[in-house]
Amino acid sequence: MKGRNAVVTGSTSGIGLAIAHALAAEGCNVMLNGFGDPAAIDVTRREIAEKTGRTVRYFAADMGRPDEVRALVAAASSALGPVDILINNAGVQHVAPLADFPDEKWDLLLAVNLSAAFHATKAVMPSMLDRRFGRIVNIASALGLVGAPHKPAYVATKHGLVGLTKSVALEVAQAGVTCNVVCPGMVMTPIIEMQVADQARVTGLPPEEVVQGVFLENQPIRRPVKLEEIAAAVVFLCSDAAAGVTGTALSVDGGYVAR
Ligand code: NAD
Repeated sequence: MKGRNAVVTGSTSGIGLAIAHALAAEGCNVMLNGFGDPAAIDVTRREIAEKTGRTVRYFAADMGRPDEVRALVAAASSALGPVDILINNAGVQHVAPLADFPDEKWDLLLAVNLSAAFHATKAVMPSMLDRRFGRIVNIASALGLVGAPHKPAYVATKHGLVGLTKSVALEVAQAGVTCNVVCPGMVMTPIIEMQVADQARVTGLPPEEVVQGVFLENQPIRRPVKLEEIAAAVVFLCSDAAAGVTGTALSVDGGYVAR
């Protein structure tokens, strides 16, 4: 994977950041993206670059805006060279019963969690097809394969990502380009920490009990999946060893969907 150019959306924290670290450690140049304090992001960017000796850049596109998604791909291509690896990871959550679910949250989750992957994939594809190499990995969720209440937009967008993955994989199957989707179980990141804090407030339970009783209830290994475990799955799917793996959903969920 040495010298490959990778774009990782939503890589200023959590799973995306772990994937960016792991890809750079494998020799990839990386374009970071996501929200956050510019100074802190620059520290992270330098750390990865210094540790791995690779070129690491950052572009602050909002993945909810198609024009900015295309600008991210253009910026990566001009800073690093043609994009070999695209990781569609940026994602947001909103939890509410259907009747109270705000329309603007539905639109936001569709744009960031699903449409961004379509626009980014469309933007990288011509050059991948020309060079007959590409690796696209979408980050869905166990909730891309099974449902959960009070998360209509999240479950719909993550199921959508699984479908998008299959369609893209079939279209480019003979062109050296693979497209797969990773379905994580519960991983301790800010997106989950916020939900734990909310539930702890509502139920009056201590956060550790909320994690064990609510968030790990359906995860048979009874611990959060580790960031490195997700990143390792992504690295595999981007490797030459995975050239024959396409259109597949790889669960890294501690047994969540096996039940
Ligand atoms: P996180 O909140 O730590 O990271 C989300 C990243 O996306 C951040 O870098 C954030 O800045 C970025 N982002 C959010 N909105 C954006 C936008 N409009 N434009 C650009 N960047 C944006 O969460 P995470 O847990 O690391 O989540 C990463 C992905 O993994 C998401 O797609 C999430 O749905 C998925 N996932 C997470 C878990 C989990 O338990 N943490 C489980 C399954 C799937």
